[in-house]
Amino acid sequence: MSGEKPDGKPATRLVTGGRRKEWTGAGVNPPVWHASTLLFDSVADLKRGTARNQDGDYYYGRRGTPVQWALAEALTDLEPGAAGTMLYPSGAAAVACALLSVLEAGDELLITDNVYDPSRGFADSLLKRYGVTTRYVDPMADDPGALFGAKTRAILLESPGSLTFEVQDVPAFAAAAKAHGAVTLLDNTWATSLFFPAIEKGVDISIVAGTKYIGGHSDIMLGCVTAAPSAWPGLRTASQRLGQCIAPDDAYLGLRGLRTLDVRLRRHEASGLAIAEWLAEQPQVARVLHPALPTCPGHDIWKRDFTGAAGLFSIVMRGGGMDAVAAMIDDLTLFGIGYSWGGFESLALPVHPEASRSATEWSAEGPVIRLSIGLEDTDDLIADLAAGLERFEKAACRK
Ligand SMILES: *Cc1c(COP(=O)(O)O)cnc(C)c1O
Repeated sequence: MSGEKPDGKPATRLVTGGRRKEWTGAGVNPPVWHASTLLFDSVADLKRGTARNQDGDYYYGRRGTPVQWALAEALTDLEPGAAGTMLYPSGAAAVACALLSVLEAGDELLITDNVYDPSRGFADSLLKRYGVTTRYVDPMADDPGALFGAKTRAILLESPGSLTFEVQDVPAFAAAAKAHGAVTLLDNTWATSLFFPAIEKGVDISIVAGTKYIGGHSDIMLGCVTAAPSAWPGLRTASQRLGQCIAPDDAYLGLRGLRTLDVRLRRHEASGLAIAEWLAEQPQVARVLHPALPTCPGHDIWKRDFTGAAGLFSIVMRGGGMDAVAAMIDDLTLFGIGYSWGGFESLALPVHPEASRSATEWSAEGPVIRLSIGLEDTDDLIADLAAGLERFEKAACRK
């Protein structure tokens, strides 16, 4: 929306982005207007506004007011090379609209096999019904160019995958896609644009579930899609045609969360890494799937391409079954049991990678547990997990 080259380093842009005087007035932050109708001064003014059809013009509530525009612009400013950002009522809506903005009947879509299950569900149901074929591919494919066929129109990556954390060679996938005239979409929820500026790495459409780290407080649903200039007009039009918009309160909370993303994410990173390293030493844990640890597939790519690591990772247990997992997780005191992640509070979730794969095999030494490390004291979290691992071991031995 801004079109200008954003100034300053990412942490600075998080603070300055979207704070136009004409939107904020005397406040530091934009107002929260509950508005459907926006009033024009005259018929001539109405006509002028309709003809201009630009973001940032008062038009109608569905097109937003300063608080939504400020959030969108701040997100665009985080992605050097981006043309604009559209906002959605959830991350799932963001993935769906981003895909609909590039695909048509007869197209083939490639999706990496480690993708978030609802993205897979959308492709296998609605996209299929509208005549788009999906082919699932190995996220760690050596030769991305070989994956593209004559009908391939787009590829959806998720790096790292949000269950099994394979870090993909996004620049290589994007270059191969470009060579085949295909569009690259990336689910960038884990790293956010702060730790992985996707457009700069060759991605055309960068998707972030703002529900997670951008909101950061487990109190909003939010989807964000930032596009390169080539994909922006199509994304904007498709999203408007699909009636996508977000409530001003959610935009406000998203913007409020975004301002502190740098400090929160760095704390999630430090705590996540400390806990992942501790877990890697525990006898009950066979493997830690954390992009910043060498045991994670694609670790070298993470080192090359990312500027940080989020606090979400998985552990593969050594033996044991779901009973042992339940014995461990049920009585954790600081880790909640629930979906989503990226909030200030820690979560633990049993996950089942084998159930949402079709192109690659998932084989592991035992069940998989995903941890979202929150902002609690690391020693307290480790003590909680240590007691949990003892319960796991007892329950596993009883079998
Ligand atoms: C949570 C999540 C989504 C969907 O976001 P919602 O806001 O929950 O709809 C999409 N992709 C990934 C990787 C996610 O973790």
